[in-house]
Amino acid sequence: MFSNFSKELDKLNLEYKKDAPMKEHTSFKIGGNADYFVSVKNTEELKTIISLCRDKNVPYMLIGNGSNLLVDDEGIRGVVIRLEGDFKEIRIDGDFIEAGAGASLTKLCLDAWKASLTGLEFGYGIPGSVGGAAYMNAGAYGGEMKDVLVSCTHLDSELNVASFTLDELDLNYRHSAYMKGEYIILSVKLKLSKGDSTAIKARMDELMGKRMDKQPLEYPSAGSVFKRPEGAFAAALIEECGLKGRSVGGAQVSEKHSGFIVNKGEATCKDVLDLVEIIQDEVKEKTGYELHREIIYIEGGK
Ligand SMILES: Cc1cc2nc3c(=O)[nH]c(=O)nc-3n(C[C@H](O)[C@H](O)[C@H](O)COP(=O)(O)OP(=O)(O)OC[C@H]3O[C@@H](n4cnc5c(N)ncnc54)[C@H](O)[C@@H]3O)c2cc1C
Repeated sequence: MFSNFSKELDKLNLEYKKDAPMKEHTSFKIGGNADYFVSVKNTEELKTIISLCRDKNVPYMLIGNGSNLLVDDEGIRGVVIRLEGDFKEIRIDGDFIEAGAGASLTKLCLDAWKASLTGLEFGYGIPGSVGGAAYMNAGAYGGEMKDVLVSCTHLDSELNVASFTLDELDLNYRHSAYMKGEYIILSVKLKLSKGDSTAIKARMDELMGKRMDKQPLEYPSAGSVFKRPEGAFAAALIEECGLKGRSVGGAQVSEKHSGFIVNKGEATCKDVLDLVEIIQDEVKEKTGYELHREIIYIEGGK
C-alpha cells in the first residue's frame, strides 16, 4: 500500500510509525492499524506532510488525543497526523491564554489555575487536546469552550494560516464551524478572568470527584456515546429501556453510567457499532427518542 511512501517520509525527516495500532492512540483502546502515524512539531512540518499526501494521493486525517473516536477494526488507510512539539505550548498574558492545539486540555486547566485564572474549571478531566476540545466545543458541568474562546487559528484547505473569531466559530452543543470544511486547528486564544486560586482548585477537584464518582473511568471508553436529545438525557433513556449492562462481545453499556459504552477487554469496533444500533433501535421503539452518536466513527479502508 502506498509504495515508497516511507522513503518520501524519510527524505523529509518526519517522525513517523508504520502500521501503528490505533488502539494505542485512542481512549477506547479499539481500532486496527493506521498505515502511517506521523507526528508533526510545527506548522511547516504539518504543511509538508499534507502537501506530500496530496501529491501522492494518500488519504490523511488529523487526530487529537483520540478520546472521542471509534476507529474501525480494519484500521485507517493512509496517514494519521498528530500535533506535537510547538503545538503543545501554552502562553499566558494577563487574562488571555494562547494554547497550541496539541496541548492537553487538562494541562491547560492546571496552568490557568496556577495563574489564578477562572473560567476553565469545567474542562478539568476532559481527556482531549485543546484542538479536539475546540473542534467539538467540549463542555461539562455547565461550562463549554464557547464560554472562554476568543478565536482559533487554523490551516485552511489551501494551506493558508487564518483565524475564526468567536462568532465565526459558530459554536453550539458539540458543534463548531470546523465540522463543515477541511481545517486543522493550530492554536486557540482564550479569555479568562482573575480569580481566587484556592476557589479555582476547589472547584476543579469537586468536578474531578464527580467524574470519578459517576463515570466508569476504570475501563477504556470514548466518554458519552450519544448526544443529549432535546428534552431528555441519553443515559436515563437507556436505563429506562433496561439496557444498562447490555453487552455485545467485549463492549458493554456501563453499569456505572448508561451513557458510556466501555471496553471490557477485547472489544472490537464492530461490537461497539452493533451495541450502538441495539440501543438506538430500542430507545426509539420504547421512548420515541432518536439518539445520535457523539463519538466519531472513523470508517476503515481495506
Ligand atoms: C472518560 C471520558 C470523559 C469525557 N468527558 C467529556 C466531557 O465531559 N465533555 C465533553 O465534551 N467531552 C468529553 N469526552 C469526549 C472527548 O474527550 C472530547 O470530545 C474531546 O474534546 C476530544 O478531544 P480529542 O483531542 O481527544 O479529539 P479526538 O477524539 O482525537 O478527535 C475528535 C475530532 O476532533 C478533530 N480534531 C482534533 N484535533 C483537531 C485539530 N487540531 N484540528 C481540527 N480537528 C481536530 C478530529 O479530527 C476528530 O474529528 C470524554 C471522553 C472520555 C474518554
